[in-house]
Amino acid sequence: MQNTALVALDRSHLIHPVVNFRAHEKRGVTILESGHGAYLRDKQGNELLDAFSGLWCVNTGYGQESIIRAATEQMTRLPYATGYFHFGSEPAIRLAAQMIELTPASLQHIYFTLGGSDAIDTAIRYIIHHSNSLGLPQKKHFISLERGYHGSSLMGSGLTAIPSFHLNFDVPTANQHYIASPYPYRNPVGHDAGAVIQGSTDALRAKVQQLGADNVAAFFCEPIQGSGGVIVPPAGWLKAMSRTCRELGILFVVDEVITGFGRTGPLFACEAEGVEPDLMTVAKGLTAGYAPMGAVLMSDAVYNVIADSSPDSPVGHGQTYSAHPVSAAIGLEALRLYHEGGLLANGQAVAPHFEQGLRDLMQHPLVGDARSKGLLGALELVADKASKRRFDPSLKLSERIAEIAYRHKLIFRAFGDNALGFAPALCYTDAELNLLFERLKAILDEVLGLPDVRRSL
Ligand code: PMP
Repeated sequence: MQNTALVALDRSHLIHPVVNFRAHEKRGVTILESGHGAYLRDKQGNELLDAFSGLWCVNTGYGQESIIRAATEQMTRLPYATGYFHFGSEPAIRLAAQMIELTPASLQHIYFTLGGSDAIDTAIRYIIHHSNSLGLPQKKHFISLERGYHGSSLMGSGLTAIPSFHLNFDVPTANQHYIASPYPYRNPVGHDAGAVIQGSTDALRAKVQQLGADNVAAFFCEPIQGSGGVIVPPAGWLKAMSRTCRELGILFVVDEVITGFGRTGPLFACEAEGVEPDLMTVAKGLTAGYAPMGAVLMSDAVYNVIADSSPDSPVGHGQTYSAHPVSAAIGLEALRLYHEGGLLANGQAVAPHFEQGLRDLMQHPLVGDARSKGLLGALELVADKASKRRFDPSLKLSERIAEIAYRHKLIFRAFGDNALGFAPALCYTDAELNLLFERLKAILDEVLGLPDVRRSL
């Protein structure tokens, strides 16, 4: 079908995630047609360098033949096996065992979901069950970070602290609360790592005290806040939050949906900090985006409370596609590629180049902050570097930057407040990173040349 016909059909019928509906109707869809390695090709034949791994998920890059083979073999043998009624499948069990092996030692049980949002929702449901099973029905308050993103399920969207996810959706609910993001660049205490960490632990303590320690079930956080603008807390922050949760007697839930699977260097960000969470959520890189899948991992302690709670009743939580065998087969092959396939090692090898490239752009007149960890990074554009003044939202700069970037054949994420997010695949070469920064520099120069941008400086 022709591009124009597809655009018209899309405009009439297809609702896209997280767009302004009217703005999307006006702009129309960009149809992606194929991908190979770090590159995507659109319906009009443009070859685009993908510096965002799809939606920070295609960590292996596109066109990995061995993943395609694993999926095809599993689909041919058995395309579906339910996990209900005590059934299961070999790839799901093997993937479960590997995930337990690879994640922090505290995590001994895993439930597979379809993605990150339902992993978060599943974690919340299990935590509620856990509180009730402990005979602590009042222990149902949840705390997360401002700028946090924990998906868009009914409950998870309330732990997400990004305004558009709340507007007209009646969240957060009365039992969902936030503390300030560590956000070093804009933290009132400045970049001082100790002060940033102290600020977060103090804020968590104060919030728990305000709500009553007996009423708080859990604290959720991302090791690096992704959709909130790639906020990189100082080393030691995650560990300090974990310790504080333990002291306060609340569950510590780490959302590694973005940071997992080599994105920040090690397989999981928890590893670098030696953190042992009570629960952990993953998705995205688990199947590298080749099929939908996420998971919730939990400790023995949490599992056993739920397991022993109601001897005569099933734990009523399930989805038709939990532990889907094709997704599980893909997950197994993705894990093999990260390790034996050398992707983790390659990601670690090229990460310093990526980090240096972002840091070098601090010289650019528009760039106020450059931050990154592994292959996850951002630039924050400001109208004035000294005061860190943001551009006026009426300029709609982020949307315009995304369009300019597209013309320069580079895909990244332009966040609402002019942070530009990058998450190149772990297969990136130095040559591809050079191309990324060459195009990015040209994009920033073009943005700098816009008359209304110049007037704002
Ligand atoms: N948690 C985090 C940290 C995420 O970044 C995301 C997705 N960007 C989610 C949860 C939700 O995952 P999904 O979009 O797969 O539902």
